[in-house]
Amino acid sequence: MLNLVLFGPPGAGKGTQSERLIEKYQLVHISTGDLFRAHIKDQTNLGQQVSQIIADGNLVPDSITIAMLEEEIKKNPQAKGFIFDGFPRTVAQAEALDTFLASISEKITGVVALDVNEEELTQRIAKRQEISGRADDAADKLKKRIEEYFSKTIHVLPYYEAQGKLAKVNGIGEIETIFNDLTAIIDQY
Ligand code: AMP
Repeated sequence: MLNLVLFGPPGAGKGTQSERLIEKYQLVHISTGDLFRAHIKDQTNLGQQVSQIIADGNLVPDSITIAMLEEEIKKNPQAKGFIFDGFPRTVAQAEALDTFLASISEKITGVVALDVNEEELTQRIAKRQEISGRADDAADKLKKRIEEYFSKTIHVLPYYEAQGKLAKVNGIGEIETIFNDLTAIIDQY
């Protein structure tokens, strides 16, 4: 299996690049943000539990997020591999993912981090909000999300670096160029 983590702050281009990567490598895309938004839209119990947390730009508790992710992996026993987008966002999530994958005799193949500075992120998300209307893309919520990234999520990078699994790609530039940089790394796995 090819199990990739596409890592980066909000607005780094994870969604855009994931769409292309799943097509090229025939992987199952698991975006925890998309899954939460679907639960909120469908007004499930889980959706009701997390909607305020997400609207405020906070991270959903690890226990809820990990359980949802494991369910999603189990739903796809025939998968050639997964691309994890927006997960893991804490070291506890990264550890839980490793433990779960080990339990099904799998592991993370590699982690590719999209590098984008804070100024560019803020500009991109302001544009995205005009189109998506996502409440958590509004300026004050976005500030909180970027804070969550730099206080909690960034620590996931040394976790994977210590395992020798981390590669960084410049996330600023043409979508096609960034895609080519990503595939150059993935093709070496
Ligand atoms: P995203 O679409 O990945 O930016 O996620 C949107 C929101 O969903 C985040 O701001 C968090 O509130 C929540 N979320 C998504 N993934 C996670 C995760 N792995 N851990 C905790 N919260 C998450």
